[in-house]
Amino acid sequence: MAALDGLPPLREVIQCHGLDARKALGQNFLLDLNLTQKVARTAGALDGATVFEVGPGPGGLTRAILALGAKKVIAVERDARCLPALAEIADHYPGRLEVIEGDALKIDFEAMALKGPIKIIANLPYNVGTQLLVNWLLPKAWPPFWQSLTLMFQKEVGERIVASEDDDHYGRLGVLTGWRTHSRMAFDIPPQAFTPPPKVTSTVVHLTPNENPIPCSVANLEKVTQAAFGQRRKMLRQSLKPIGGESLLVKAGIDPARRAETLSVEEFCRLANSL
Ligand code: SAM
Repeated sequence: MAALDGLPPLREVIQCHGLDARKALGQNFLLDLNLTQKVARTAGALDGATVFEVGPGPGGLTRAILALGAKKVIAVERDARCLPALAEIADHYPGRLEVIEGDALKIDFEAMALKGPIKIIANLPYNVGTQLLVNWLLPKAWPPFWQSLTLMFQKEVGERIVASEDDDHYGRLGVLTGWRTHSRMAFDIPPQAFTPPPKVTSTVVHLTPNENPIPCSVANLEKVTQAAFGQRRKMLRQSLKPIGGESLLVKAGIDPARRAETLSVEEFCRLANSL
């Protein structure tokens, strides 16, 4: 299929720049431009927005984000081999694409203090993606510097992110996400849509900040969720023993015979505030 933006098809870009996918960098490229547009559209209207894209690779998603009208894209890529391909996109959209070579985990996005709505979009190796998500959920200032996160994960990780109580996937990540954001799984992408295909289905998760999360200390919330889900099949009076057990639960007004996965985010915050 000819690309709508007049740039060469991604297969050609990959071949021309010798971008054979590297497993160590979690490189599974999305080459279908309809799909990259679908991912970019999940972030909502991009007109006038500044987008942080993490892991642009050969630039399929970057091209979709720019074609949909983002004012500026700041893309962080670890693999220097991708830079010439990204430079061609930057030439095609003068002044709108800035590429930073480096490890996204070491970049302080907040410190860049950009003005206007900031959207973050990424298709990353899942371990890097999960760590970045947690970092973006935990800045001291809230609401955060970003207006939305549109992130691709292995489906199983996506399910953990959006899970709430009484769901098998509910755990520490679901509590943290449920506390500070509104989240949803937008759509799945099958392995064969990627080059090379990963082993499992992927999913796109979209998150927006909860402007008024229940006031609660992050450190205490982490303490209670770590203890509670560390022994998720046990009653809370047992799993929370090291941090106060039954008396903590009584103070928070929670039945000590309950199990971690039955507690709502609000109840976890109550526990954290009772510590
Ligand atoms: N966005 C492209 C797409 O959708 O086809 C590439 C996605 S590929 C799954 C992941 C990309 O993230 C690769 O280009 C890889 O080099 C890059 N990457 C991996 N670890 C990274 C890190 N720590 N910081 C920045 N980029 C990283």
